[in-house]
Amino acid sequence: MGYTLMLSIDEKCEEFRNFGHEVLSEDVEERDRRGAKDPSDWMGLWQSAAHKGVLGINMPQQFGGEGRSFTDSFQALHSLGEGCRDNGMLLGLNGQLWAMQHSISVFGNEHQKAKWLPALVDGEAVCAHAVTETNSGSDVTGIRATAEKTKYGYRLNGEKIWIGMAPAADVAQVFAITNPDHGAWGMSAFIVDLKSPGVSKSAPYDKSGHRTVPTGKLTFEDVEIPDESLLGSEGSGHAIFNQSIAWERSFIFSSHLGAMKRQLDETVLFARDRAPNGKPIINNQTVSNRIADMQVRYEISRLLIENAAREIDAGVKNRMTPSVVKLSVAEALLENALQAQRIRGASGYLTGECERMVRDMAGTITLGGTSDIQRLLISAYQKGAVRT
Ligand SMILES: Cc1cc2nc3c(=O)[nH]c(=O)nc-3n(C[C@H](O)[C@H](O)[C@H](O)COP(=O)(O)OP(=O)(O)OC[C@H]3O[C@@H](n4cnc5c(N)ncnc54)[C@H](O)[C@@H]3O)c2cc1C
Repeated sequence: MGYTLMLSIDEKCEEFRNFGHEVLSEDVEERDRRGAKDPSDWMGLWQSAAHKGVLGINMPQQFGGEGRSFTDSFQALHSLGEGCRDNGMLLGLNGQLWAMQHSISVFGNEHQKAKWLPALVDGEAVCAHAVTETNSGSDVTGIRATAEKTKYGYRLNGEKIWIGMAPAADVAQVFAITNPDHGAWGMSAFIVDLKSPGVSKSAPYDKSGHRTVPTGKLTFEDVEIPDESLLGSEGSGHAIFNQSIAWERSFIFSSHLGAMKRQLDETVLFARDRAPNGKPIINNQTVSNRIADMQVRYEISRLLIENAAREIDAGVKNRMTPSVVKLSVAEALLENALQAQRIRGASGYLTGECERMVRDMAGTITLGGTSDIQRLLISAYQKGAVRT
């Protein structure tokens, strides 16, 4: 009888922190400058992360994961971010884990899980979550991609933009309209093999942040997909989207929060050391207040994600939680990055870690639904327009 002895959560955190520091941070400034145009810039690191267990942290053991709780998984991924200076890689890994693998794990049938999860957990395949279209970003119900029923399956047509990992992905979770007369209930979710004829992938966008992993466009032109590509039942796409985006909003910044902690610690050290005329700037109350606010934003963010994890582990369903986490944590990530840059004076304006954090964190307030949209959702729950 074979079994693998699991590390304690503290050992796992240390392992992930060291791995993030020693392996994933390598050459990050050069890779950031090059912008993920060449898959060899990131693919090897992605696979190393998968082999280290990052993509299996709370996936079921039968599919190669460790099956840890959400609470422990958050701790481990936070530690990864404390060590890792490559926020693009952290976003890509967390995006695949929370938005895609969880969907397949919960909504997939046994065939879909066995086909895709081991390969995704092991880093042999890369997955994309394809929702956004040119005329449908904030309003997901406006998507135009269609999946028309055929004798053997569906014919997929449409274009998805701003899709993380798309230029190099092997498989995508694609949302498309199967019945235009049924409104939100006319949307379905599919797991599409991107090697299918009629699929094309764009080159990576030249985006301002998270440049170390590719983001791009997926185009589907009369792509014939089999019935077995359907995730859940026909018409359940909106419900699947709501659940997968809830996991994404709650946990996609687990590792970014570790990076925020490292940035806070380094900012304190900087402000202690930087002493024009022999007077450390940390003794200036304006500066120390900024750092105190950075600490508070970090602590609140951490408590919010821990709370989201505890709710799921305890089986509590609170539909407002993901929007509260997403809004608060994304705004905190960006604000702390700006404050860290301000405290460094002109040196923070040089290209490098500090300005890269600003560029990377600027994307967090948009991806996964903008802060404006999270406020709208929170307000809708408060007014009772949507039951929690
Ligand atoms: C780094 C990054 C990664 C991404 N990864 C993915 C991915 O993997 N998969 C994917 O499908 N998509 C992805 N996206 C796309 C992202 O989900 C959308 O950009 C986002 O939902 C906003 O849509 P939009 O860009 O079309 O903006 P729009 O919807 O056009 O919004 C523009 C502005 O108007 C505001 N606004 C719009 N509607 C309202 C409203 N009703 N009330 C108040 N304000 C409103 C918005 O808040 C925003 O400020 C990614 C985006 C980024 C930046």
